Amino acid sequence: MAKMYYNGDANENYLNGKKVAVIGYGSQGHAHALNMKESGVDVVVGLRKGKSWDKAVNDGLEVYSVGEATAQADVVMILLPDEMQPKVYKEEIEPNLTNQALMFAHGFNVHFNQIVPPNTCDVLLVAPKGPGHLVRRTYQEGAGVPALFAVYQDVTGEARELALAYAKAIGSLRAGGLETTFKEETETDLFGEQAVLCGGLTSLVKAGFETLTEAGYQPELAYFECLHELKLIVDLMYEGGLEGMRYSISDTAQWGDFVSGPRVVDDRVKQEMKAILKDIQEGQFAKGWILENQANRPVFNAVNRRESEHQIEQVGRELRKMMPFVNRAKDKQKEVVVS
Ligand code: NDP
Ligand code: MG
Ligand code: MG
Repeated sequence: MAKMYYNGDANENYLNGKKVAVIGYGSQGHAHALNMKESGVDVVVGLRKGKSWDKAVNDGLEVYSVGEATAQADVVMILLPDEMQPKVYKEEIEPNLTNQALMFAHGFNVHFNQIVPPNTCDVLLVAPKGPGHLVRRTYQEGAGVPALFAVYQDVTGEARELALAYAKAIGSLRAGGLETTFKEETETDLFGEQAVLCGGLTSLVKAGFETLTEAGYQPELAYFECLHELKLIVDLMYEGGLEGMRYSISDTAQWGDFVSGPRVVDDRVKQEMKAILKDIQEGQFAKGWILENQANRPVFNAVNRRESEHQIEQVGRELRKMMPFVNRAKDKQKEVVVS
């Protein structure tokens, strides 16, 4: 098994006397800033004027422009949306860099050369393997979300020590830290969200729903069967792996799992997964996404609109209205985002 790092592996005092600037106050930003503050770290937040600025001030944090926060910090953690990072970096962060340590929560921009850090800075990442709101909530509960950490450039010889101290301060070393590289973190994160967590799953759910409704079954029933119930199954997998889930389902369901699962996800699907991984590794996916953003997202917006009109969404919206306990406020939906 790979070596896992826990609280005892981090130097408690490493961040003493250092100032950390958290740039961005969204899903990850608010969690990192507040957790670190409560862990005793000297934190400031870097933002533009707006919604997040007001929220961070209300949460009791010191807030500056991105440039001012960068200039006064020893450690700069960039928690802006990935597609915004290159521009903000070029215009507001880079001009204020001397020898600060530069940190990320995802390796995309550095790995694909959209951000090229100066050779005077340590460059590292701490990537919690979970949504920001859980990074915050689990910290408050005395637990944490596991994190990957990686060093890309080590000028001071202390980059690894910083990564561990930072991961500890946001609560992640309570759950476990795993060392990786920018390349491995970037490629596996993109693959996971495309093939399994987001892309694979939404396509599986829709195909199941369409198969039932096209055969004349009620859409409401198909929604419960193929989408709603998924959470209960995934919770069991989260708690006990595949075997834990299979322990709880009926033997009939388990037999169906064994004989039909491999018919759904067959060799052709696996070959396609390999092709998706290759596109990621060779930069094809990154290129497409970067160009899509430069063109103001025509495909993203068109598909997003079409998807929101799918029957499964229309039926689901109606059914969830009657289940207020699952119908969470819009501002909390970010919590279920995989990034
Ligand atoms: P969000 O989309 O939640 O962050 C948005 C924040 O960035 C807001 O505070 C927004 O402020 C601010 N912002 C946007 N544009 C600018 C700008 N031009 N100048 C200043 N501030 C700006 O990002 P995430 O937390 O989802 O992602 C941050 C990083 O963490 C990414 O690298 C991502 O890959 C990584 N990550 C995310 C995970 C997640 O759970 N979402 C999981 C693991 C890693 P405003 O209110 O002004 O718009
Ligand atoms: Mg991810
Ligand atoms: Mg991601």
